[in-house]
Amino acid sequence: MSPSITSADGSNLEVECLSCALVSGVVPPTGGVIFESAHFHVHQDVAYPIRGLVIVAAKRHFYCLDELTAVEQTEFISLVHKLRHEQRIRLGIEKVYYFYNEDTTHHFHFWMVPRYAWMDQFGRSVESLRPVLLYARNNMNDEKNRKTVLEGISALQAGMKAYK
Ligand SMILES: [Zn+2]
Repeated sequence: MSPSITSADGSNLEVECLSCALVSGVVPPTGGVIFESAHFHVHQDVAYPIRGLVIVAAKRHFYCLDELTAVEQTEFISLVHKLRHEQRIRLGIEKVYYFYNEDTTHHFHFWMVPRYAWMDQFGRSVESLRPVLLYARNNMNDEKNRKTVLEGISALQAGMKAYK
């Protein structure tokens, strides 16, 4: 079954693979593209309004980590390293949780979720991630926080500008 997504203007779109739709520009990510390298596309999923949250999606359609080519492997770790550095120096993010699963409806995409003090109410291990994301989606979609999230995207865009 094709995932259905709601775009920023409220219309509903059926796409074969949400990651393909995003990296090809069919579905523009809200807040814009943070960075694009030869093989990866970096954006924020604003459905989860957490400042500095970053998703690194492959441009190529595949699911498993061992499908990364040699070039992609090198590019990926270098890109994640650079993004992490920019999260620290531009947004003051001290700790990040990373996750990615291979059995998903959309292709290879790697989450970098900053850790903030308010998240501690959901615990500190991997099982806290889902409640944290849902809490953000359901309770943090106010104008003020959305502005903070968009500022975070701009800061990361600026930081990635000089990176090749
Ligand atoms: Zn895809």
